Amino acid sequence: MEELLIVKYGEVVLKGNNRREFVNTLIRNIRQVLAGLGRYRVHKAQAMLYLEPEEGFDLDEAARRLGRVFGVHLFHRAKKVEKSLEAIRQDTVDYFSDDLNRSKTFKIEARRSDKQFAHRSQELNNILGRDVGQAFPHLRVDVHHPDITLYVNIRKEGVYIYRNQERGPGGLPVGTGGRATALLSGGIDSPLAAWLIARRGVAINALHFHSYPYTSERSRKKVEQLARILARYTGAFRLYVFPFTEIQEAIADYCPKEQLTILMRRMMMKSAEKLAAQNQSQALVTGESIGQVASQTMESLSVTDAAVNLPVFRPLIGMDKEEIIRYARHIGTYETSIQPHSDCCTLFVPKHPQTKPKLHHIEASEKRVDFDGLIDKALEKLEVEEVN
Ligand code: ATP
Ligand code: MG
Repeated sequence: MEELLIVKYGEVVLKGNNRREFVNTLIRNIRQVLAGLGRYRVHKAQAMLYLEPEEGFDLDEAARRLGRVFGVHLFHRAKKVEKSLEAIRQDTVDYFSDDLNRSKTFKIEARRSDKQFAHRSQELNNILGRDVGQAFPHLRVDVHHPDITLYVNIRKEGVYIYRNQERGPGGLPVGTGGRATALLSGGIDSPLAAWLIARRGVAINALHFHSYPYTSERSRKKVEQLARILARYTGAFRLYVFPFTEIQEAIADYCPKEQLTILMRRMMMKSAEKLAAQNQSQALVTGESIGQVASQTMESLSVTDAAVNLPVFRPLIGMDKEEIIRYARHIGTYETSIQPHSDCCTLFVPKHPQTKPKLHHIEASEKRVDFDGLIDKALEKLEVEEVN
């Protein structure tokens, strides 16, 4: 059967002169995600991509993977039909027969964008509705809440029939929006934060702070697993694993206990910024949201921000934990995130962390240790993993 996949890329259309680049990037990303599933041709027409399989292409798996490509808004599998009323009538009854047998009510939604075609949309709805009704006498028409809607699209480039459309993740193709470094813990929040920024077309590098031996090899594996889930959406990216132990120990040994958390947050930011300078990142991304914990009060967030010059993107800043959890489930990271692990942030944590740190106090404490030197030393031991 001559089935194909049709992709609608929505927002990308709005991008005027850059449109070409956006679409080409989207095609490149789709090609990367569908690699290994067999050969197919891609052509573009009127804000849509047509993926036409050649022999042996795994259309089912391709449809699953397409649902994760940023920049894909809607997609569906369809059949290309000869442009004649007879062929359309025949194929509508044949192509959907399995689905129609399983349904009780249906609706036809014909759209004629090719005005050369002799039959108008409404006329097509009537003819095809009658055909389907005759071929499947158990079916009733229901224009409001049908079990199944059959779309018949008469376009210049061809006639396509399909049923349900599926929603992609939306957003913009990764690679069209610059690059950012996402601070990735093993928690629930940061993977979602990275996902949300990547969905805006931003290529990400992930950075994880590891405090071996205080944190286990298992917690690192967990972060790698989260990174792999993200990579299904973004395509391959780099995960940097930063040895954070010495910095944390220096904070614990030389600085006031109640400042430990905020100092650690600032050191993470400074380290991330140095790394970002090496890999052309234009921003940092974290999973903080106001008031969630002591280090995420307004005061703490601004003291954290003051550690760096790069913009820090916090896409979860106004979200409730419940919302975050729902969203994390939706993108598929939640189940991994809730596996028990020790995070370096929960180590050495004081009983009463400051919730309203003052920048000058914090900066004074930082003078007690050569943190810059420690960061540079740690960066030399940075490990890089290619995630895909
Ligand atoms: P998450 O669920 O993302 O771990 P959280 O609610 O536990 O967030 P914090 O522990 O205060 O909050 O961390 C805030 C942010 O700092 C995280 O969202 C993440 O971006 C970054 N972060 C925390 N710990 C690490 C780490 N070990 N490695 C990299 N980034 C981290
Ligand atoms: Mg955490």
